[in-house]
Amino acid sequence: MGRRFGLRLASSLAAAARTTDHFDVVIVGGGIVGTATARQLSINKPQLKMAILEKEAALGQHQTGHNSGVIHAGIYYKPGSLKARLCVEGSALAYEYLDAKALPYKRCGKLIVATDATEVARLDELWKRALQNRCPGVQLLESAEAIAAIEPNCVGLKAIWSPNTGIVDWGRVNQSYAEDFARGGGQVLTSFEVAKFATSLETLEKQQNDYPIVITGADGRVVRAKYVITAAGLHSDKVAKLTNGKKVPKIVPFRGEYLVLKAAKSDMVKTNIYPVPDPRFPFLGVHFTPRMDGSIWLGPNAVLAFKREGYTYWDLSPSELFESLFFSGFRKLAFKYFSAGVDEFRRSLSAGAQLKQLQRFVPSITLDDIDLTKRVAGVRAQALDAEGNLVDDFVFETNEEAVKRVLHVRNAPSPGATSSLAIAKVVAEKAQTAFGL
Ligand SMILES: Cc1cc2nc3c(=O)[nH]c(=O)nc-3n(C[C@H](O)[C@H](O)[C@H](O)COP(=O)(O)OP(=O)(O)OC[C@H]3O[C@@H](n4cnc5c(N)ncnc54)[C@H](O)[C@@H]3O)c2cc1C
Repeated sequence: MGRRFGLRLASSLAAAARTTDHFDVVIVGGGIVGTATARQLSINKPQLKMAILEKEAALGQHQTGHNSGVIHAGIYYKPGSLKARLCVEGSALAYEYLDAKALPYKRCGKLIVATDATEVARLDELWKRALQNRCPGVQLLESAEAIAAIEPNCVGLKAIWSPNTGIVDWGRVNQSYAEDFARGGGQVLTSFEVAKFATSLETLEKQQNDYPIVITGADGRVVRAKYVITAAGLHSDKVAKLTNGKKVPKIVPFRGEYLVLKAAKSDMVKTNIYPVPDPRFPFLGVHFTPRMDGSIWLGPNAVLAFKREGYTYWDLSPSELFESLFFSGFRKLAFKYFSAGVDEFRRSLSAGAQLKQLQRFVPSITLDDIDLTKRVAGVRAQALDAEGNLVDDFVFETNEEAVKRVLHVRNAPSPGATSSLAIAKVVAEKAQTAFGL
């Protein structure tokens, strides 16, 4: 009798566990790529039982919550690349979504400004890209007067004007995607740091074989899944390795620091002002960015972070720093761009040096206009290959060894937030094909 009761109890506990902790698809990472993907898959396949696992107590605490907040138009990216296609598509989808949800944004436009002959030549190349990428509404401004007509304090020889570029709080958008997902029946489990994956095809209960992927959290919590999608941002390589994913691309964290204009000076610029980027680097250069709260951010630069989530010089993890420094790809990169790297560190440590960059576009700005009590920063998950090349495009990878049960988003750099809804469509489709959903 006691034994029968014990068996009944065990099987009802197993059933309860299945309803709470067993999922068709688990998405690791509650940043904007994870939530957008979860939302899209729940729209495509509403019958699936899904969960997002996020290591922090709240969603979007890393790249998604620490970025420039720009809705990019897709000007920079190599025509034909995923980045170019998904940014143009993603920006249109983002505006549609923001309108449908009545989420606040400002279509305040953007100038990319050339200030000398070298930059003019690069700007002309960029203009060709903007046209090839079919960025809506772009115009070429061929005189200082035409630039000043849009932004009176800005100087330059030639510029691209993108009226369709906007600003938004991507953290808020992320929250909204997660709410859509939860309304569709998805579960969001926060404070769940995925520490281990195991595929147990030899489990005790036959039924449990339907959920062969055992995911263990750092606190010992366990969930089971049929399929897994990972979008772990700054930890994407580590999480991929947990399922025997490839070693590269490896993530090296690069911090981007911003200065902030004093509130009284916030009317100095009203649009985004960007330099012409140096094509050797993936970063867009220090720019003027209006924020949704009315403040103006000036940045970001790009310096090696001493920890994957190292937002200041004091955030240091010896093991993560050594991991970056001992990675051959990073050492090759550092050797190639040594002087550019030193310059970035110099500008990071001196607001005056950073200011010089900004004065090329807005000569009237002085150190007095900057609120030196405010510093903000984000950390980019920069993917590198073993040769020290910066991996520029989005990278999605299925894991052969896990019998196509796992799909990783290995690289989702800027404009990953702008592109999130378009990325989500691609990842959901890939998952449906690879997993046979
Ligand atoms: C300084 C900066 C400026 C940028 N500016 C712009 C911009 O203006 N416009 C734009 O479109 N894009 C911009 N980007 C890029 C954009 O922010 C990113 O492309 C996007 O946020 C990437 O989203 P994600 O979900 O891949 O990563 P994240 O937002 O980093 O999310 C990854 C999540 O995974 C979680 N996680 C990691 N490991 C685990 C684990 N083991 N278990 C559970 N959870 C885990 C993390 O806690 C995190 O929440 C910028 C980025 C930076 C850093």
